[in-house]
Amino acid sequence: ATPLKTLDAEVFDAIAKETNRQQTHLELIASENFTLPAVMEAMGSTLTNKYAEGYPAKRYYGGCEFVDVIEQLAIDRAKKLFGAEHVNVQPHSGSQANIAVYTAVLKPGDKILAMSLEHGGHLSHGHPMNLSGMLYNIVSYGVDEKTGRIDYEKLEEVAMAEKPKLIVVGASAYPRTIYFDKVGEIAKKCGAMLMADIAHIAALVAAGVHPNPVPYCDFVTTTTHKTLRGPRGGMIMCREQYAKAINSSVFPGNQGGPLMHVIAAKAVCFGEALKDSFKEYAKQIIKNTAKLADELAKRGHGIVSGGTDNHLLLIDLRKNNPDLTGKAAQAALDKANITTNKNTIPGETRSPFQASGIRLGTAAVTSRGMGEDEMVKIAEAIDLVLSNPEDEAAIEKAKNIALELCAKFPLPY
Ligand code: PLP
Repeated sequence: ATPLKTLDAEVFDAIAKETNRQQTHLELIASENFTLPAVMEAMGSTLTNKYAEGYPAKRYYGGCEFVDVIEQLAIDRAKKLFGAEHVNVQPHSGSQANIAVYTAVLKPGDKILAMSLEHGGHLSHGHPMNLSGMLYNIVSYGVDEKTGRIDYEKLEEVAMAEKPKLIVVGASAYPRTIYFDKVGEIAKKCGAMLMADIAHIAALVAAGVHPNPVPYCDFVTTTTHKTLRGPRGGMIMCREQYAKAINSSVFPGNQGGPLMHVIAAKAVCFGEALKDSFKEYAKQIIKNTAKLADELAKRGHGIVSGGTDNHLLLIDLRKNNPDLTGKAAQAALDKANITTNKNTIPGETRSPFQASGIRLGTAAVTSRGMGEDEMVKIAEAIDLVLSNPEDEAAIEKAKNIALELCAKFPLPY
């Protein structure tokens, strides 16, 4: 028996069941991934015992000589990975990284121009129920509903008319390349600062298979747990001129003690991402997503924007089955051990709770070692469910495909 099993059988049991769920389900949620056992070892280490308020060599506590080494490793590796001038690895999450940028350089009531949430923006880009939407005056841009791509001309128009203090570029459900150079020019023209949130595409940027926003942006935020495949957490990169403001906005502005066990795991993740093998991983993600989109389109499913350039795609359910909501599609896929999430799509007519789309990402199945041949099988399973969402036999057939793939590509846990 492990120490946890002996001490707390209830928690142990629920974790064991979750591990089994991960082993036996096809994980297609675009924001999820399977991190390495080495990353988990760092996260489950003695570092969780340590307080280290402050920054390397400038701490408010004694005994920080080893955590200083760890945080500096994480910072140096992140700088190398993205070419950033300054990095703060302490944000506990992507949302906290974003809020820390806003509070570093904005005052309540200042104007932010960000991607509309219905078109793929994130809650922390101005949702009225999020602190970003409560504190700031939010104006939005979006995609051209016909092409599904960011309408840069419209973005410029809105930016020039609204003169925001900050433009936020980045999304949670945008399947196409983001041209940061174009938005950089717009920001310069209208006198705004520019922040890119690369939470979703971080691995693709790190591997050089998506344009890097760092040269064009004042701030770049990310999470470390999505495509980047590290621990759950956030990070801020910025130009040197904002280093002090960002550091004091994170601590003491928004957070107390840093999670040193998570920062150690971030260092391990960045070290991995610097390797050639990670570039291959990122390239494979893009190949897999393109293949999955193609195979679904071949079977008659609508794909928002007609395809994908990155790690995710959006199915427009209205094409194949206009009566099927995103909510019902997600539930039917769940029954077949295929884990996804419903998503609104450009030109959405249903509520976000019902939605007309399904978002699919391949970062997690690619981490399991699956390639393009497996994407054909996954498309076949998804098609079986979406074309027959109430047919138990079809769902059973899809589930068998999912189980077979999971058994063939086991997780190392
Ligand atoms: N930014 C984007 C673009 C995201 O998609 C997400 C999470 O889905 C976040 C920020 C927030 O990350 P977290 O869940 O760590 O707060």
